[in-house]
Amino acid sequence: MLPKATTKLYGLIGTPIDHSFSPSMHNKAFETLDIDGCYLAFDTDKEDLEKTVAALKQLGARGWNVTMPLKSEIVNYCDYLSPEAKLIGAVNTVVNDNGILTGYSTDGIGFFRNAKENDVIVKDKNILLLGAGGAARSIAAQAVLEDVKKLTIYNRTLEKALELKEDLSEEAKKRGVMIEAKALEDKESLRKDLLDSDLFINATSVGMSPDDKESIIEEADIPDNIVVADIVYTPNKTQLEKIAEKKNLKILDGLGMVLWQGAYAFNLWTQADFPVELIKKEVFKIDTK
Ligand code: NAP
Repeated sequence: MLPKATTKLYGLIGTPIDHSFSPSMHNKAFETLDIDGCYLAFDTDKEDLEKTVAALKQLGARGWNVTMPLKSEIVNYCDYLSPEAKLIGAVNTVVNDNGILTGYSTDGIGFFRNAKENDVIVKDKNILLLGAGGAARSIAAQAVLEDVKKLTIYNRTLEKALELKEDLSEEAKKRGVMIEAKALEDKESLRKDLLDSDLFINATSVGMSPDDKESIIEEADIPDNIVVADIVYTPNKTQLEKIAEKKNLKILDGLGMVLWQGAYAFNLWTQADFPVELIKKEVFKIDTK
């Protein structure tokens, strides 16, 4: 559908954004569902954020995604925050209800929805998460809200893992979820914790192009009965996923998370169900049989 005088604006703000799948995904979904919307990417850095939010509000944009480096900054412009966004103090999706902005963080929700779609149920399970950056924080918060049994966070910078643990501790205590935070350099402890984990998630940027020969963990350290998730989606199949494939392990890939975080955002804006199978096939070129 070509834009008309009535077309609602949606978008993405952050920088860099040239590589984003979001415009292709959402515009395809609008077209498929015959929704009168148009999604554009607006390259925005921290200095421009205030003006960009004011402009989007003025133009009556219905909603927008927020990516690096604005996910924390945007919180200051939101009137309300969803539970997971409040827990981590970060937002990747904004809904604009006539000038009232509500912030959500759909990365973690998208991650666990993709897990569920792949028959990986995490309630009462032990999760080992590598990373404490933006995406890891969203996944960690959602892991607590999904009532996992234990969440063990390893990060290169221990302070960031400890900070994340602290941010989640009250909610985790309320729900009886155990959380530990450890330094990635403690390989002995990592090996031991992996043996006791049901799901291992790489939420660091290690393995991302152009360093796509790297894996955050060695083959010998990956147990034989664990589910391996890598949220990195460039390249399509990471070194870690290749190792997991060789070991015949169940894999959750980064594209699945991209797809589902977008599906949740789309639903928040339009209340419509995202055409997941079609987007997989036509935007991500994933063969869905
Ligand atoms: P971020 O906030 O910059 O965090 C990066 C994380 O990676 C930090 O924990 C950092 O550790 C760790 N790290 C970086 N280099 C490392 C190294 N050489 N060794 C060990 N740890 C290292 O980035 P982000 O936004 O969370 O994104 C992380 C990755 O997830 C990126 O590849 C991004 O493209 C991907 N992602 C995927 C999705 C999806 O939907 N699939 C969504 C968001 C992001 P320190 O704290 O020590 O620096």
